[in-house]
Amino acid sequence: MQNTGEKKHLLTTISDLPKMTQARIDALHELGIYRVSNLLKHLPTRYETHHGGMTIESAEQLLGDRESSPELVTIEVTICKVSPGWRRGRKSKLEVAVEDETSRMHANWFNQPWVARALHPDMRIRLHGAISMHKGFLQMNNPRWEEIDEDEPTVAIEGDLRPVYRASELISSSVIASLIADVIEDALPEIDDHLSDEMLHDLSMPKLADAYAMCHKPETEDQAREGRRRIAYDELLILQLGVMMKRHHRRETMHAPQLEWNEDIKNRIEARIPFALTESQQNVIEEIANDVTSNTPMNRLLQGDVGSGKTVVALHAMLMAVTCNAQAAMMAPTELLAEQHFKTISNQLKGSQVKTALLTSSLTGKERKALIKKISTGEIDLVVGTHALLTDDVIFSNIAIAITDEQHRFGVQQRALLRNKSDDAYAIPHTLVMTATPIPRTLSLTIFGDLDVSTIKGLPPGRSPITTRLVQPSEANKVYYYLMELIAKGQQGYVVVPLVEETQSELKSAVAHAESLQNGFLKNAKVGIVHGRMKSEERELTMEQFRNGTVDVLVATTVIEVGVDVANASMMVIEHADRFGLAQLHQLRGRVGRGTLPGVCALIASPTTEDAQLRLEAIVETTDGFRIAERDLEIRGPGELFGAKQSGIAPFKVARLPRDLELLRLARRSAVEWIKRDPTLERSPLLKSRLMHAHGEALGLGDVA
Ligand code: ADP
Ligand code: MG
Repeated sequence: MQNTGEKKHLLTTISDLPKMTQARIDALHELGIYRVSNLLKHLPTRYETHHGGMTIESAEQLLGDRESSPELVTIEVTICKVSPGWRRGRKSKLEVAVEDETSRMHANWFNQPWVARALHPDMRIRLHGAISMHKGFLQMNNPRWEEIDEDEPTVAIEGDLRPVYRASELISSSVIASLIADVIEDALPEIDDHLSDEMLHDLSMPKLADAYAMCHKPETEDQAREGRRRIAYDELLILQLGVMMKRHHRRETMHAPQLEWNEDIKNRIEARIPFALTESQQNVIEEIANDVTSNTPMNRLLQGDVGSGKTVVALHAMLMAVTCNAQAAMMAPTELLAEQHFKTISNQLKGSQVKTALLTSSLTGKERKALIKKISTGEIDLVVGTHALLTDDVIFSNIAIAITDEQHRFGVQQRALLRNKSDDAYAIPHTLVMTATPIPRTLSLTIFGDLDVSTIKGLPPGRSPITTRLVQPSEANKVYYYLMELIAKGQQGYVVVPLVEETQSELKSAVAHAESLQNGFLKNAKVGIVHGRMKSEERELTMEQFRNGTVDVLVATTVIEVGVDVANASMMVIEHADRFGLAQLHQLRGRVGRGTLPGVCALIASPTTEDAQLRLEAIVETTDGFRIAERDLEIRGPGELFGAKQSGIAPFKVARLPRDLELLRLARRSAVEWIKRDPTLERSPLLKSRLMHAHGEALGLGDVA
């Protein structure tokens, strides 16, 4: 247990530190820093070689000594003159003449008009940046600057390297550095290490306290890296331990119904499917069968590109349960998708003994009560639904398999545990989660680390390729003429409208666009609308009309993003395509080219940002979902990785993926070994408390530990 008496420095609140002002306290709070311990965890983001205490003259000499110098210098100067240089649209230049006791020089800021408002003659500022010569004068372009606080002695940091901290407009990096320098000596000895000396020796890593010292006041870049590596490793290890602890708990403590599966059952199920399964689908079904014929709960992720045929695999899996007189459930992220799955599945099971039901939040009152009753008595074998399945009063008689479709729409840690009536607290169903958004390898090793992964490779045979075109809004009429031609040939299409904030509501823009198409380009066709705010009967009616061909064109919001499956729809038009994410565009495009008709996807957009441009280029370039996921990651950066946001798992502070992939592998190996030795970490209380603090809630470790 931690003894607060011994941690008096680490636990000191920052407001109790000397040199504190309310403004600094507020600024630190904004950076998430409340105590000295937080301050120490605020690691430098980079280091600058510091030629501190330079004069303008000595900087000129430094330049003269080297051919082309990348040197960074810090010079303290007084402003002589601030002259707005020029301004053209969003581009501007500000020229500032400054001097010290040795000479004069120029500082220029480009495209930062606010700097001009902050600077004035006679002000004392500290400039930090790269130097060059221009017309006989020393100059700095876009230097970092701060006003010199005469009460604040220049921060004396030993060594050549000056740490640069994430700062804000309200507090500078150098003030943070000086605060850390003040407390670090006293605080470091209070940091306990959760790794033993022996382990550290094997890992060739420094003790935690030393690692912090190496990060905050390194003598060399190598030393800083070594310190950072230890702290990054800890972050990765702690998450891996959490994930492994959970996996161990599920596999060793919990159990699921052991199902039976053989050729005969397999053939009976396959007889209901109107096409031959692909080899890849067969393989995945074998993997699932392998899992569910054991009483170790399955926890499997099925990934397969849009249109790869995951639904039929899900149906197979559910029927594995039903043939053994157990129940199965499938949960979809939208009512529309749940309704569609229900329809597909009911059709395929027509004439069989299997009792199916649909449970969404549209079902209310007596009807809902009656259905829930049937679920709890086991009268219903197979339920398709939405989140509505997760409400407390939905209790199964004997559920063996629970499937979540389009998992990425739910968030990672949705603990979709459908429950049984039985009072065996250790009984859970086998679970399968399905996604069309491939999970990058780095993530599959972290937050998804306790899932086994199956992949459907490729698409079913006989699909025609999809042609994707980027069209300027001024040319949109050509797109709609083309759509009209396809409709004349008996085909159908979608027109997707984004949720545009400027136009008040999603609802209006869809409705307005549908109306204008119906009265304009598409006056000879029947236009229908679906969006998320419609009553389910109304929406189901329109979808049915679209499926049976009464409606030719469906104008929709992104409610049709996932799962909608109408083979005769061959054209997808996406208005304001620049507003959609890459994965979303891929999903939307996946609504066409699902049958033998060649698919066409027209993206109407004139992108205004570079990211949007890159997204549109990527989607035009390839239809391969894995390639698109990679591009998405490159464009957005790892900060917004799929699911990471919804997962509730705090992003790593120090570790960076994929850069630290090797370190992650190392952490994963250690975690596996560790959990084998000590499954609930009871022998490592300090580590355990750090783990629970960091991820206990997000990983749902409450019942595990
Ligand atoms: P997704 O993986 O995107 O959920 P679906 O399960 O909706 O894909 O399947 C897309 C379409 O492909 C459906 O119409 C389905 O009936 C069809 N399909 C699935 N597997 C096969 C197959 N092996 N051969 C032919 N068509 C298939
Ligand atoms: Mg699907």
